[in-house]
Amino acid sequence: MSEKKLPDNLHRDTLAVRVAIDPSQYGENSEALYLTSGFLQPDAETSARRFAGTEDGYTYARTSNPTVTSFERRLAAMEGTEAAIGASTGMGATLMMCMGLLKSGDHVVCSRSMFGSTIALIGREFGKFGVETTFVSQTDIAEWKAALRPTTKLLFAETPTNPLTEVCDIAALASLAHSAGALLAVDNCFCSPALQRPVEFGADLIIHSGTKYLDGQGRVMAGAICGSSKLIKDVFGPIVRTAGMTLAPFNAWVVLKGLETLGIRMQAQSANALAVATWLEAQPQVARVYYPGLASHPQHDLAMRQQSGHGGAVLSFELHGDSADAVRANAFHVINSTRVVSIATNLGDTKTIITHPGTTSHGRLTEDQRQAAGISQGLIRLAVGLDHIDDIKADLLRGLGGLDNLTS
Ligand SMILES: *Cc1c(COP(=O)(O)O)cnc(C)c1O
Repeated sequence: MSEKKLPDNLHRDTLAVRVAIDPSQYGENSEALYLTSGFLQPDAETSARRFAGTEDGYTYARTSNPTVTSFERRLAAMEGTEAAIGASTGMGATLMMCMGLLKSGDHVVCSRSMFGSTIALIGREFGKFGVETTFVSQTDIAEWKAALRPTTKLLFAETPTNPLTEVCDIAALASLAHSAGALLAVDNCFCSPALQRPVEFGADLIIHSGTKYLDGQGRVMAGAICGSSKLIKDVFGPIVRTAGMTLAPFNAWVVLKGLETLGIRMQAQSANALAVATWLEAQPQVARVYYPGLASHPQHDLAMRQQSGHGGAVLSFELHGDSADAVRANAFHVINSTRVVSIATNLGDTKTIITHPGTTSHGRLTEDQRQAAGISQGLIRLAVGLDHIDDIKADLLRGLGGLDNLTS
């Protein structure tokens, strides 16, 4: 089947629905799902060349699969990187990156506000293999600089962070990393390439949890690393082949189709989140709202520059209360009074999700660690979906409206 070659300089919206491997001989318009673990070889010589890596071609799906290739090409086109490689989960992508870049004696500088499992993987698990990590303030560039050592190989940040939506300056971190001969990796889960493309600010590697906005409908687990062809092909490809954190073809296909609507979902969910955040800021029971799209956010200007003018879909807010017990009771009351939004710990879904970080994602921390991280018992996270904002507001008001009685 001969197919059209895409012209250069297409808009990102077009790339999101077009970039994929060529259609099969049947000419399917929607990308095919290749559920196969092995691939027929035309002859023993070709097979040998493919295994030796001197000829392209599929051999065994732990190494690669055409559906996974379509997902990788489309995501790379959207992020603006030369290449991408799929992983079984977001954490699988971070594991692949660390296995590829780090060895015993190397040093990493990492934001203290990173996703909890990322901190555990790098700080604890890689610590066992002699990799040292310094955790620094998300927003204080001087702390990042002071942490650099001759052995520093990697700076790793995430922006905005979960749940307090702290924003870091990607361009400043990139130049710091490069001045130290290190790479900058950015976890772009919260904004996705629809709102933020870290390579445009100098980042070397982008980590994705495809489980969140890339799928966007809460269906499958997936992950990816985006970066230069050289790193993807020579460093990370061999890790996937030997370590096996391979993205399943079915999951790749679901996320591939999710990417087609990523742009409109992120715009709509971001607009909904801004409306809800603005409304929450005016509610007397709410002490503080954390959302990069609000002028009250400490890094609002930076966020608007880095995030294509959008705040993203996640916000957090803190309730008033006299003591930790009182604010937790208030937070639980607001969460338990909802009848529409989902009580869950996930995010990145079309369904709005409400979470109490203090007893879930940050529940295993000591009270001192939680306070250092700024996670109070009165904090509620809302990952805003495509529910109508009037229904979301009414749902929150069910609990907020009753709080005066609770606190007095
Ligand atoms: C969920 C998440 C991850 C991990 O992704 P999984 O697909 O769950 O492994 C990494 N980073 C951020 C910011 C996340 O929200």
